[in-house]
Amino acid sequence: MNLAIKSVRVNLKRPINQIYKPVFRARRNIFISSFPPTTTLNPTTALHTKLLNSISNFSTTTSKSKEQRSVYMGDNIVNFYAGQPPLNRVAFQRHSSEIMNRHLHNSETKFLIFKEARPLVKKGETGKILFLTKDQIGNQLGQEFGTAPVDAATDSKKLYETSRLPETQPALVFLGIDDRQSPTTNSSSKIDHQNPQGIPYFALDTGKNAQEWDTKVAELGGEWGDARASGGAMDIWEAGVYAQGRALIDWNVRNKFCPACGSPTYSLWAGWKRNCTTAVNPIEGKEPCFSTKGLHNFAYPRTDPVIIMGILDSTGEKILLGRQKSWPKGMYSCLAGFIEPGETFEDATRREVLEEAGIEVGPVRYSSSQPWPFPSNLMVGTFGRAKDGQTIRLDLDNELEDAQWFSKSLIQSIISSPTGSTYTKADYKKLDDKSDQESSAALAPSEKKPEELVSKGGEIGISRVPPGTAIAGQLIRQWVDGGLDLVSKL
Ligand SMILES: [Zn+2]
Repeated sequence: MNLAIKSVRVNLKRPINQIYKPVFRARRNIFISSFPPTTTLNPTTALHTKLLNSISNFSTTTSKSKEQRSVYMGDNIVNFYAGQPPLNRVAFQRHSSEIMNRHLHNSETKFLIFKEARPLVKKGETGKILFLTKDQIGNQLGQEFGTAPVDAATDSKKLYETSRLPETQPALVFLGIDDRQSPTTNSSSKIDHQNPQGIPYFALDTGKNAQEWDTKVAELGGEWGDARASGGAMDIWEAGVYAQGRALIDWNVRNKFCPACGSPTYSLWAGWKRNCTTAVNPIEGKEPCFSTKGLHNFAYPRTDPVIIMGILDSTGEKILLGRQKSWPKGMYSCLAGFIEPGETFEDATRREVLEEAGIEVGPVRYSSSQPWPFPSNLMVGTFGRAKDGQTIRLDLDNELEDAQWFSKSLIQSIISSPTGSTYTKADYKKLDDKSDQESSAALAPSEKKPEELVSKGGEIGISRVPPGTAIAGQLIRQWVDGGLDLVSKL
């Protein structure tokens, strides 16, 4: 499935909610400068930042372009929505109702609120999350995390680990602890990895109380933001918290029934697992649901990988970009698509480029990845080298309106242009609404005129590429800047 930069290609075989959509920062934020690396990547005591430290040659530099919003850590690139560094997730704490309830009742704990997957932001400031405290949330929180009944059998106690029963309560997810300010150091023997110091963060869905929430939100000086525009305009650290929270809330809200038997599911592990309710409330006369035994991937949050690639010609001086008919005028981006079962990154890269542009690709190298919470993708960026002497063709899967080879100097001039990665609200809307348009835009091969089956070869002008908040924008800039060894190794 094609998704050039968050594209969306029309493929009715896939659920609409899996269709990838683009995110672009609001026009006024395009030139926000990169965050200061010394504050966001300063090694602290936390285990997760220690892990970041273990990445070879830990050092940071900001991107060359102000709008890139990525950083280099040794050989690694950290993209927008990755937190840089994110919360310490302390996953092992999710199993303890005692610890989770302690976090819930901590007066400093911050809650990120979602209504229909839209974040609560400060009124008039779409990119500023309005975090709430427990006191501000009041009874909208529902019950605290539950524990096993005293008479529960030992082997069934785990079914109640930080559970939310009854299952009708609003989704609540423990995101982690902001331990960036922890005063100890990595070398200290006093580090308590079990209980890192810092502010706990949760994500909470409004659930059925949306109307009551609207009243409360107005009183607190907030409003419901836009999923993509708000996310793209956020400070880079908050964007990481938002990406995690949105993906988890969305997963909980959309998986209320057991795929195995259709019974309601309930939340446990502080929002990180969903069980069939027949596990705690067996149905008389019925066999236990098979999901209550063994390991089942539908019981855990999903991350769906999407491959997105910068395809270069044999000289490395040209890049293959495409566009869909419904995209904003002049916009071209990297080709992309879902990784299918049984495929490697390299397989998916080669298959998608062949399907969408008829181009065979030889060597492929992984570049970096990006969490993409719309709803829960992981964008996997690669570079690939096309074989010589091929002609672009668009008729194999009929997804693109056009695809062309573009020179480095042309792309450089677009990136340097004040409007080269600028998108208006109307542009956002085009990209967000494109799932419906696609069904009409994606004509069957027989319906296309012969001249539509090959590259337009310059008839359709390129004037814009994705911004640096999208990994497609990153891949293009990395190629133009020429700063990555992996490109030269192709
Ligand atoms: Zn079931």
